[in-house]
Amino acid sequence: MAYDGLEVDMISLGNADSILVTQWGYPTGACRVLIDGGKSGDADKVLAFLAQHKVSYLDHIICSHPHEDHGGGLVDLIKSKEISFGEIWMHLPWRHIDELKLNVYLGLGSNSAKKIVSIVNKSLETTREIESAAKAKGKIVYEPFQGKKIGFLHVLGPRQEFYEQLLMDFTDLEKLSKMEESMKQYQNRVLLEDIYENSPQMFNASSGLGEAPTEPENNSSTVLWTRHNTDQLLFTADAGVEALMEVKNSYPLIGNLSWMQIPHHGSRRNINEELINFFKPKTAFVSADGTKKHPRRAVVDAFKKVGTAVYSTHYPSSTNKWFHLGAVPLRPDYSNAIPLYDAEGRAALIGGV
Ligand SMILES: [Zn+2]
Repeated sequence: MAYDGLEVDMISLGNADSILVTQWGYPTGACRVLIDGGKSGDADKVLAFLAQHKVSYLDHIICSHPHEDHGGGLVDLIKSKEISFGEIWMHLPWRHIDELKLNVYLGLGSNSAKKIVSIVNKSLETTREIESAAKAKGKIVYEPFQGKKIGFLHVLGPRQEFYEQLLMDFTDLEKLSKMEESMKQYQNRVLLEDIYENSPQMFNASSGLGEAPTEPENNSSTVLWTRHNTDQLLFTADAGVEALMEVKNSYPLIGNLSWMQIPHHGSRRNINEELINFFKPKTAFVSADGTKKHPRRAVVDAFKKVGTAVYSTHYPSSTNKWFHLGAVPLRPDYSNAIPLYDAEGRAALIGGV
């Protein structure tokens, strides 16, 4: 059987990403791309998944952005003797900004932007660890900017200029303070909403989609696109509204997708109705732990409203999710997944009898 299809495997790791994308018959045999490796402790799970699927070579490894829940697991994965790989893709901030300046600014810290500064510092550490693990295997790191092609995947974002602007934001302590302040205000509002959840008349709650900013590094996430015949697929990592609007403006002809990843584990800070209407996917996957924020019910409902079947790695129990198009090897041990929140409905029906 000549396979010509496309597969997406979203490994179930809670609020963390590791996605294997396989294009069969490209140009001969399969081309495999691993997007992210979960958290630091997740490398073994990812390696076990790859071994189970008899994957010992990855054509490309991509670190979408250096947050712990995406880049953390890649450090041990790259060091592992169990897999080998072709190319590694990740943004290297020091290629765009004076490293000294980056360290001095972040070293200074700031009381008001303490949280964001410590996240950025941790990310820099993860980026360095991944780069040196790659170097130890004789690999140079390529940067995934808009217009690049990674195997069969096209990079739609970030644009290099957009990324460099984000880097300026990372090192502008005044801007970071303002951002942290607005995130705090948003968190207070969410707290109020949670308190008044059972009496919505007390609090005029909107769906709240895309109203508060996401951390600047989330907006630096690599956004990837590919197609199989007329079916289009979009990988968003933790991109926020600003980054996804950039994608929409740069590529007005995409949309009406067959599959997409819901960004940032279903947080309502990263997507809005305009974008959901634009992307309008038939199927959407989300990597999430199933708590109240991830995925947000309002986000899932907004996707369902445009006809999307939403599947989460946590639902109805933690399971890896698989999406495929065209001719691919059969997986007799897989069964149909249940979209959010059909199992709830079924349980209610059973309970009602
Ligand atoms: Zn994340």
